[in-house]
Amino acid sequence: MREILVISGKGGTGKTSLTGAFAHLATDKVLCDLDVDAPDLHILLSPEDHKKEDFVSGNEAVIDPDLCTGCGTCAEMCRFDAVRETGDGLYEVDPLRCEGCNVCVTFCPAQAVKFPAKHCGTWGIGETRFGPMVHARLFPGEENSGRLVSLLKQHAREVAKEKGLGTVLCDGAPGIGCPVISSLSGTDLAVIVTEPTLSGQHDLERVADLCEHFRIRPTVLVNKFDLNPEQTERIEAYCSERNYEVVAKLPHDSIVVEAMVERKVVTEMPDSPFTDTLRSAWARIEELSEQCASASK
Ligand code: SF4
Ligand code: SF4
Repeated sequence: MREILVISGKGGTGKTSLTGAFAHLATDKVLCDLDVDAPDLHILLSPEDHKKEDFVSGNEAVIDPDLCTGCGTCAEMCRFDAVRETGDGLYEVDPLRCEGCNVCVTFCPAQAVKFPAKHCGTWGIGETRFGPMVHARLFPGEENSGRLVSLLKQHAREVAKEKGLGTVLCDGAPGIGCPVISSLSGTDLAVIVTEPTLSGQHDLERVADLCEHFRIRPTVLVNKFDLNPEQTERIEAYCSERNYEVVAKLPHDSIVVEAMVERKVVTEMPDSPFTDTLRSAWARIEELSEQCASASK
C-alpha cells in the first residue's frame, strides 16, 4: 500500500480541486481529507456516510454551581484566565479559554470542578462516486487537529486493507502546523501544490523543508504557472537545485471554476490541454509514489 499526500504551504493554491481530480484518476484508492479545520473535499465528492462518530479528545473544566463555595482558588490558579466570577459570588469556566490543564480540578477544596471529556468534532467514512472516503470536521476553535488527522489516517489504512485498495490518497491541511506534521507520518510521496508568487515560493520552501525533516522527498506541481512565468522559472530553479521533480505546470484555466460550479472535478469536464496535463501529472505521481513506497520497504 502506498500513501500520497497533497499539500500546500498555504491555502488558496487549488490543492483541493487538484486532489479531487486525482481522486477521479486514481483507480484503486481510499480518499482521506485531512484538512480537518476547514474540509472542503466533500463538497466536490459528496460522500454518503455509512459511519459517523464523535471525535472526543482531551478534557475541559466545568464548575458545578451547587458545590462551588466561591473561594476563588480556581481563578487565582488558572494561568489561562479561563475562570471568571459570575457576579453572584460563584465562578465559571470559559470553555474557549480552558486548556484542560487540570490545575483547578486538583486544587478546588470543594471538588466542585468536573473534568468531562471534550467533544471536539465529528468524523466519518462515506462512499463517493470515486470510492470510499474518510473525513472529519473539528468544531470552530477546537484544537487537537493533529490527533484527529492521525485517527483519520489510521481509519483510511484500515479501509484500504479491508477492501484490498493499493493507495491512500490524502488531501492535507494548508500551512506547516500540527495537522500537516501529522499528515506526513507514513506518507510515501508529498505533492506540494504551489503558485508563481513570491509568497507561494516562500510557502513552498517552508513545507518542503518540513517534508525533508521527515525524510519525505517532495514533488511539486505549479498551478497557474502562466500568471507569472518569471516566478515560475525561479520556482523551477529552486526545485532543480533541491532535486525536486516538478510533475506539472498547469495554466490558469476557467475550466477549473466551471467544474466547481457544476460540483464536478475538473477531469470530469470535457478533455482539454489542461486535463491532459493533469492526467500526465497523475501518471507521474503514481510512478514516483510507487518508487518511494518500494524504497521504504
Ligand atoms: S476553587 Fe472550587 S469552590 Fe473555589 S471558586 Fe473555584 S470551583 Fe468554586
Ligand atoms: S483546567 Fe486549567 S485552563 Fe482550564 S480552567 Fe482549570 S486551570 Fe484553567
